[in-house]
Amino acid sequence: MFSKKKTTVDLVIPVYNEAGVVEQTHARISAALDSLPYDFHFIYVNDGSRDGTADSLSALAARDPRVIPLSLSRNFGHQAALTAGLDASTADVVITMDGDGQHPPEMIPEMLHLIGQGYDIVQTQRMDEAQPASFKKWTSGLFYRLINLVSGTQVLPGAADFRALTRPAVDALKSMPEYHRFLRGMVSWIGFATVILPYQPADRIS
Ligand code: UDP
Ligand code: MG
Repeated sequence: MFSKKKTTVDLVIPVYNEAGVVEQTHARISAALDSLPYDFHFIYVNDGSRDGTADSLSALAARDPRVIPLSLSRNFGHQAALTAGLDASTADVVITMDGDGQHPPEMIPEMLHLIGQGYDIVQTQRMDEAQPASFKKWTSGLFYRLINLVSGTQVLPGAADFRALTRPAVDALKSMPEYHRFLRGMVSWIGFATVILPYQPADRIS
């Protein structure tokens, strides 16, 4: 009998000073993935945290063999931490998401379903419409209008760094030498069959 190898999926999750929430984040993501027929690994990228995040991740890895903690030598920022995680990933599919509970892991089954349908990129989009106008909403709207004005690459307003990528899409991103990385723009630039999934943002856990 031949056993068909399961599709492998790496979750890349940058964490900076999230000691208080990694347990909760990991439990919630694990629950959302429960019973899905994939071989999952969790690549937590500790981006030079100054709190107990490293210890929290070690404790997690001791209990759950799917957890792979990575440590950066200092704080490099969210985009660099995501890039380090993508570089370390080896799976057929990679999902990037935040570690503070703002990216709902309950969307992952649908994201993987869409990858199974043949998309290379499942891009989530934050919908803020229900929320009152805020300064952040106004400045972020202005930011997207400006970036879409000066650049030939359109960036979807509200596009989050919560997305699923197939291996060919990850390899395309990895081939880009940009040092100051803005993954939302780069993901749009590389092309590939892309589908957008909207979501309502939740408050960060702490
Ligand atoms: N993060 C990181 N390095 C940083 C800042 C943040 O790895 O220098 C992580 C953070 O722990 C979280 C994700 O990146 O998991 C998004 O950060 P944050 O929640 O601050 O961003 P926002 O929600 O405001 O976009
Ligand atoms: Mg956040």
